[in-house]
This record gives sequence, structure tokens and C-alpha cells, in this order.
Amino acid sequence: MSNEPVSAETESAMKLYQGVCDRFEQMATYIKLDEKVHAIMSQPKAEVMIHFPVKMDDGSYQLFKGYRIQHNNLLGPYKGGMRFSPEVSLDEVKGLAMLMTLKCALAKLPLGGAKGGIKYNPNDHSPEENQRITRRFTIALGHNIGPSYDIPAPDMGTNAQYMDWMMDTYHNLYGRKIEDKAVVTGKSVACGGSVGRASATGFGAVYCLEEWAKGQGMPLKGTTFSIQGFGNVGSHAAQKLEELGATLVAVNDHTATLINPDGISIAELADYVMEHRGIKGFQPENEVDDIDRFWSQHVEFMVLAALENVITRENADLIRAKLIVEGANGPVTTGAEAMLLKKGIQIIPDILANMGGVIVSYFEWVQNRNSEYWSAATVDEKLREKLIAAYRQVVAISEEEKISMRQAAYVESLKHLESVYLKRGVWP
Ligand code: GLU
Repeated sequence: MSNEPVSAETESAMKLYQGVCDRFEQMATYIKLDEKVHAIMSQPKAEVMIHFPVKMDDGSYQLFKGYRIQHNNLLGPYKGGMRFSPEVSLDEVKGLAMLMTLKCALAKLPLGGAKGGIKYNPNDHSPEENQRITRRFTIALGHNIGPSYDIPAPDMGTNAQYMDWMMDTYHNLYGRKIEDKAVVTGKSVACGGSVGRASATGFGAVYCLEEWAKGQGMPLKGTTFSIQGFGNVGSHAAQKLEELGATLVAVNDHTATLINPDGISIAELADYVMEHRGIKGFQPENEVDDIDRFWSQHVEFMVLAALENVITRENADLIRAKLIVEGANGPVTTGAEAMLLKKGIQIIPDILANMGGVIVSYFEWVQNRNSEYWSAATVDEKLREKLIAAYRQVVAISEEEKISMRQAAYVESLKHLESVYLKRGVWP
């Protein structure tokens, strides 16, 4: 089938939600998705929007806007991250919630899809304020979350500390059962988190990349890569790639762009970023102002681990990587994707490349519910097994039907959801 852009508006609006909906519509039509399943899947089941007041350190009160979008719970409880960022909007979380449904179905997890967040910048607040905002948000969500109903996790702007606060608040409000800890995943190990959760998304992206390189007969030793975003996902992906013998030559984040053909040390950069909250100043002599130099850097692999809609029709032509790995959600617009595929640049799509995070979230949930804890080696082995199974399935469909890896991932995911819907029926 054709990889032409689905619609011109998608590109100009550059809206994640529109992009996800267009891709869903395109693939639903392609597989002739059952009409009622198509209708159900095209909208979230519930959209929770709340405003809640929080006391600031200076004694004043500020009103915050929070969201939880529950897209689908056919396969199991709603599951997905909480994003704390000034860019959070209803459309953004709706798009990301649908991606979670598709991602969990593709990973064959007994979980549905959701996403939520608060529209604010945690970096503008003290740790005490962030704690009160998180706890007040959890209270406002009330029974809209729960260990058997909807299970949040970290996403952009949140981490294990925020999940610990959410779990503690929920536990104080409603805690009666041993599995209450499973109300959120991505907690610190001390508070019931799983070992290997923090690195899971980044490592998972690299496990997919490794499989792709094997398929090409390309040894990773001696290859180069660039990375956009050096947060949790980007830094762990870079660490794993370095371990496998690849060299980081270009990195961009919200503070700067760094290009160094001699290679950038991941451990040193990670330590620096931890302290300075960005890459700016790490190697001032190698910083460049022109971001196009980052996009056009000659590398084997480009890992996108930051925001959505970063590769558009405007910069797609610059890319000279052989493979793009979407560690972030929705980083390549539909219009840009058509251009890249035409140039022979392949893309491991978000719902496959970044599924490692939710896979280990699922492991954490299982461990919490059974009050048992697995070793790092067990988590890693189980993660690899699930990821590689999904990767191989996607590649097999892509080769057989001569469609892109993203289209194949949507086909596999939608067919799985459809088969369950058709067996269960729509009640009453
Ligand atoms: N926020 C992550 C994602 O987009 C993880 C979700 C989870 O672990 O539930 O996949």
C-alpha cells in the first residue's frame, strides 16, 4: 500500500492527536476493521478533566488543570503515564492515550490504554510545591485511578519520586489491600518499584535496534548514532548503545546541540546532565547554533527521545541516518514519515520502540500484586523476550504485506483488539 501522507492538514497542524487518528483511520480501513470496533476505538471511553487548588510556598493558592484520558480497557485496566508539562492539552493526552491502547495490545499485555497529566512546569516549583501538587492531583482523581482500574506511571516531567507520592496519597486515602501499591508503576525500588523500570524504555528501544541491525547483517561495533533528548529514555538508550560498541556523535536537547565526531562519553554527559538539567556547557567548544547540522549529521542510527512532532516535512529531507528509532511518542509527523520512507530511511515506530517502559510497568504491577520481587536479570530477560517477540511479529507483517513497520505494528495491534472484541461482543 502507499505511504503517501494521509492528509495535508495533518502536516500543517502538526498535532499529535490528528496524526494518531489519521494513522488509526488509515490502518483500520486497510484491515477492514469491524465497524463497531472501529467506532468504539475512535474515541476514548472517558475524559476526566479537573481543576484543583494548591497552596504555594508563599502562602498563596494556585489553581491547576489536570487530565486523565481513559481510552480503552478491553484487555485489562487502563494504563499509561502522567505528563507534567506546560504543553499538556486535552488533544495531546487523547492522542497519547490511544497510543497506549495500541502499545499494550501490541505487547500482548493484559492492559488497556490511558494518559494524563497536569498543565504546568515542575521546574518552576520547589520540591515541596511539586509534592503538594502531585498529592492534590491524586486526591482530585479519586476513584478514577486504582490498582485494578487505571494505573498511572511516569512520563515527561515525572519520575519515581512523583509516583511514590501518588501511591502514598492513594494508600492513605483508600489503602486496605496488599495490592494497593500497584495503583501506580514506576515507583522507586524502596517503595515497591521494579528493578529495571527506569532503564526499560531506553534499553527496549536499543533491543529493537539491535534486532534490526542483525536483520541487516550490520555489526553495531564501530557504528555512530545521534540522539535527541537526554532525559531518562535518551540517556539509557545511549548507555546501552555505547555498551554495544556504537559511538554518540551528536546530541540535542532543550538547552543545546552538541556535535563531536570523535565521540561523546555517555557516563560523563549523564553525570553532567543530572547536575545541570541539560547538555549546555558540557563541551562548549562543540556546541552548534544551527539545529539543521544535528538533523543532517551522518550517522547509522538516530534515536528520538524527547518531544512529539520533531521531524516534519521541513527537516525530513536533511536526515541522513539509516534508521530512526522512536523512543518518544509521535516524534515523526505523517508527512515527514512518507518522505523518509521514500528515501529508504526506516523507522522503528513508537508503539514498538518505546514499549519497554510499559512492559516493565506491567512486571512491577504483577510483582506488587503477588508481593514478590524479581532480580534485575529476570526483569531484563523477560523484557527482551516480550520485546523481541513483538518486534519479529511486526517485521514479519511488514515484509509479507510490504507496508512500513508502523503500519505493520498498527495492523497487529488492531487485529488483536478486534479479535477480543468480536469474541466478547458488545454488552448488552
Ligand atoms: N509513559 C510511558 C509510555 O508512554 C510508560 C507508561 C507506563 O509505564 O504505563 O509508554
